[in-house]
Order: sequence, then C-alpha cells, then structure tokens
Amino acid sequence: MPEGDTVWHTAKRLREALAGRVLTRSDFRVPRYATTDLTGRQVTESLSRGKHLLTRVEGGVTVHTHLKMEGRWQVRPATGRPPQAHQIRLVLANDTWQAVGYLLGVVEVLPTAMEPDVVGHLGPDLLGPDWDAGEAVRRLLASPQRPAGEAFLDQRNLAGVGNVYKCELLFLRGIHPWRPVGEIRDLPATVDLARRLLDANKDRAGHITTGTQIRGQEHWVYGRAGRRCRRCGTVILRDEGTGQGGDPEGRITFWCPACQR
Ligand SMILES: [Zn+2]
Repeated sequence: MPEGDTVWHTAKRLREALAGRVLTRSDFRVPRYATTDLTGRQVTESLSRGKHLLTRVEGGVTVHTHLKMEGRWQVRPATGRPPQAHQIRLVLANDTWQAVGYLLGVVEVLPTAMEPDVVGHLGPDLLGPDWDAGEAVRRLLASPQRPAGEAFLDQRNLAGVGNVYKCELLFLRGIHPWRPVGEIRDLPATVDLARRLLDANKDRAGHITTGTQIRGQEHWVYGRAGRRCRRCGTVILRDEGTGQGGDPEGRITFWCPACQR
C-alpha cells in the first residue's frame, strides 16, 4: 500500500505530463469503462487527496484512481508501446506523453461535482494545501481508546499515512503501537512529525526517516523484525496477528519494545 507522499509525487508527474494538454487517446481497460472515450478533451488538473488521485478533464469529468496494493503510474514519451500490457488498466495520452496506469486498485469516471463522494470522508490531507493539524488532532481524539497505530492509519482521521510512516512515526515519538491514542502526551507534535516526514520525502523515491539514503538504513523499525534497534539494541518485533488498520498490509506492525511504551 503506497504512502501519501508517493501518491502526491504521482499526481505531480501526471499534472506535468497531462495538465493543459488535449487528450489524443484514452484507453480504459476495465470492463465498466471499456467504451469511455475522453479523446479531444483537455486535462485541467491532476491532484492527490490522501492516497486518491483525481484527474480532472474538460466538461466536468474526473478520473478517480487509487493505487491500492500494487498500482503505479508511469509517464512515458507518447511514441512507443509500454511494456507489460496485461497489467495496464488505463492509458491517458497526448501528443507528447502517455500516462500508463498499471494494476490500479480503483479506476472510475465521475462528474467532478461528485468528487466529495469518493474523497469527502478523508481527514485533513497531510500534503494538501488545506492541511489542518487541529482538525486531524480533533478527529484522532474522537476515539481516544483506539490503538495509536490503527488511529494514524485511518484515513478518516488524517490522510496520507501508510504502514511505513505509521511504524516509523510511532518509533520516533516513543509511542507503543497499541497505546490508546488519547494517552499520547503531545499528540499535536506527533501529527506535525507525520506531516514533516511525508513532506521531506515527497519529491524522492523511498520513505526515509533516519536521514540516511544508504540502502538498508532508511528506516528505524519498518521491515527490520528480528534485527537490533538502531537506538537501543533491543530486537525489533513484528506483529501481524492482532491487526492494525483495515487492509491486510496495514496489519503488519514493527516496533521496538524498549523504545516504545
Ligand atoms: Zn529501541
């Protein structure tokens, strides 16, 4: 499951390739939209809301996509055939670029006016222009008994945290993933750190939280089960049995039992 910074960066690349240009081809390879054709319409905007991608097209039409588990967008020169055709779910192309969506978890076309139906439930967007830290804190505290890890993953509280940032954020703040969110002493600082982590990584590949880009040293706890905590030497734990968050990948939690209480 991608993190919000990945989706933000994807929206930026789609915007640079598509916005302000007229579509010369639209190829929906999902049954429901097999006959949908947006050729001849200009793309006006492409943006992210949390982990959702909205590409707006002239005439009040929005193409809503979500990467879910394995999806990705590639921007390529308009000439040439993209590889791995069987994984393609959507192609939006103009004279210069073709944006190719692979294995997208959601592809739907809706009136732009109906966007709130698909993103209206989201909490404040960590990388959005209208980011509202106070509102995110208020939503988190609305269910004070919820485990911190689960609460931060819930996109209705704040939008953009995936499992990597969930684990890393809680480590950096010394919070046990199962501590009730209402018992976090400085919740606004934790929320602020979430925003800073995503913001620092939004223009690069990877989700670096340790400050080093050296391969294998990017994270404190994520993906490090059985290895020693970089801070205290205790063995990092991993849990996928009791569950955090609604999606399968979100259930995997990594933490240091000594640093996080
Ligand atoms: Zn530790």
